[in-house]
This record gives sequence, C-alpha cells and structure tokens, in this order.
Amino acid sequence: MRVYYDRDADVNLIKNRRVAVIGYGSQGRAHALNLRDSGVSEVAVGLREGSGSRRKAEADGLKVMTPAEAAGWGDVVMILVPDELQPELYESRIAPNLKPGAAVAFAHGFNVHFSQIEPGPELDCFMVAPKGPGHTVRAEYERGAGVPCLAAVQQDASGNAMELAVAYASAVGGGRSGIIETTFQEECETDLFGEQAVLCGGVSHLITAAYETLVEAGYSKEMAFFECMHEVKLIVDLIYEGGLANMRYSVSNTAEYGDYLSGPRVIDERVKDNMRAVLGDIQSGRFARDWVLENKAGQAEFKAMRARWARHDVEEVGERMRGMMPWIAQNRLVNKDRN
Ligand code: NAD
Ligand code: MG
Repeated sequence: MRVYYDRDADVNLIKNRRVAVIGYGSQGRAHALNLRDSGVSEVAVGLREGSGSRRKAEADGLKVMTPAEAAGWGDVVMILVPDELQPELYESRIAPNLKPGAAVAFAHGFNVHFSQIEPGPELDCFMVAPKGPGHTVRAEYERGAGVPCLAAVQQDASGNAMELAVAYASAVGGGRSGIIETTFQEECETDLFGEQAVLCGGVSHLITAAYETLVEAGYSKEMAFFECMHEVKLIVDLIYEGGLANMRYSVSNTAEYGDYLSGPRVIDERVKDNMRAVLGDIQSGRFARDWVLENKAGQAEFKAMRARWARHDVEEVGERMRGMMPWIAQNRLVNKDRN
C-alpha cells in the first residue's frame, strides 16, 4: 500500500486551481479553510440560497456561491454534502455546469462505487477522505500537524488525477502524517463493514444485549448501565492509545483472564459467519440498494428504527446516571445547537 507525504506532493497542482467546496458542514469547513491557509488562492463554497451555513462560510472570509455557480466556476469540485443528498444535487446542479476537464472529488466512495453518481468520461474523479471528523481535521492543521487522508482515483481523464488528489490531500494537511492510496471500492466496502460490524452496529448491539442479559437476570438497571455501557469509554481509550495489549496491561488480571476465556464464547464462529454475511451484502450492493430505496421512501423505516432505539431502557437509565456526572456534559462532542 503506497503512502505519500508532503515531500511527494506538488502542491502547485492545487494552488493554481479554483477549488469549489460544495457544502459547509463537518468536512466542508475543514477542507475549505485548510486549502485556503495552504495557499490555494481561489477557494469558494457552494451552498443553497437559504442555507444556514452561508453566514458561517462568509464569517470565515470565504466566497459563497450557489452549488450550480460553484460547479461551473471550479476546476476542482469537492462534494461534501450528506451522502444521501449527493446524487440529486449532482444530477440537477453540478453535472450540467461542470467545465470540460474539471475534476469532481468526494470524501467517501459510496455514491461513485455504487453508481449513484456517474461522472462523465471527460472528468477526473478522485477521493480525498480524511480519517477523522472535520473539527479534528481543522484543529490538527492549525497546530501544524494533520489527519491522515485516504486518496483514490476512480477516473483519470487528465492522466494526472492521482497527483492532483495527493496535492489536494497535502493542502488539507494529510501529507504531514500520511496520504494512503486506496480505491473507491476498498474505502467504501471497508468503511461500511467497519461501521456495521464494529463501530456502530456491533458496539451498540453488544452493549444492549449485555445490558438486557443483566437486567433480565434481576440485576439493577443502574449497575447494568455502568458495567455494560458507561465503562466502554475507559476500555476504548486504552485500545485507541496502544492497542489491545495496552488495554490488557491496564486492566486487572481477573479482567484479562475473563477476556481470553469468555470473549471467544460471546464472539464465536457463528458471529463471524454473520459478519461474512454482512460483508457479502455490502459487496453485492444489496445494502446499498436497500439504503438508496429507503431514502427514496422518505426514510420511513429508518426513522421508525431511530425512534424505537431512542426509547430503549438503557438510554433512559443512562440519561439519569449521566446527570450525576456533570463533567461529561462539560466536554460534549455533540452539541445539537451547533452540530
Ligand atoms: P455534514 O452533514 O456535516 O454537512 C453537510 C453540509 O452540506 C451542511 O452543512 C450544508 O452546508 C450542506 N448541504 C446540505 N444540503 C445541501 C444541498 N442540498 N445543497 C448544498 N449544500 C447542502 O456532512 P459531512 O459529515 O461533512 O459529510 C460530507 C462528506 O464527507 C460525506 O461524503 C461523508 O461521507 C464524508 N466524510 C465525513 C466524515 C465525518 O467525520 N463527518 C469523515 C470522512 C468523510
Ligand atoms: Mg468510516
């Protein structure tokens, strides 16, 4: 797997181009500001007329246009609106206005890999995906560091799409820590699998299944919450810092022995079979089809599942218990008024 650094990048390739960033959310703001501060002289943000993000982008000193204007203005058009809105926006506002020879860019492979967006053959199509949320991408850059980025090329009309992608990633700060070459397919399939099997699906359901097991066995909800949900953070922080061995070094020997003995009983071969089935549905496009259709249906089932899970017992107890720990709210990552 090839890794590029700033010394491998020709940043002039991006500095001399007009870069239009469509959307000014988590990633959009970080890309636009880092590009500007890296010396890209012409950066513009594409936002709808009534968008609440307009004022934010203008306050940050950026030129704001409509998505259609920005698409027609940019040499590189980076699309950073929510994935499920991209196909319609691309079809109606972006594709009809792109300059011949422009590059369209993404921070996630889903829409291109699953053919929800099919850039014309005369265009470059690349991906630069920072491996972190936008606020970290911006904060690390301001510190003089940078979040590692994935870079990929789906379509190379110009013959130098990868050089352009690496230059873009470098200007976002990725070249300070590493720009990892991948493909749209690999980024998309591993990203979906990771979030479904582990990060979102796996962890959530491991927590709720364990919580329910304790409560159904007659233990108090409060204890079940602390042991099966709250303390996950302590463990994850240790794993994040130095891997599984770092976590196992830090916990008690009893906890470590139980890990080796009971972990494989909980996550057994059947669970791995299930994981392979989930991966199969991702690879075959079945998951993508379901999600695309769900969006066409106004997210009816998605919203019902969200509402049902929000009512789970562990959420109610958790809310109450977190109220006893005010320091948690003081360091919130999620502030629904701001993000
Ligand atoms: P977001 O939800 O934070 O921001 C979306 C922004 O799009 C909004 O702020 C708004 O300004 C704009 N917008 C919404 N509808 C629009 C429309 N119809 N026309 C024009 N603008 C519109 O999105 P995000 O999390 O930054 O995700 C953007 C892309 O980056 C996605 O492809 C996502 O997969 C990818 N990505 C996100 C992260 C992350 O940590 N959030 C990390 C890597 C890659
Ligand atoms: Mg991911």
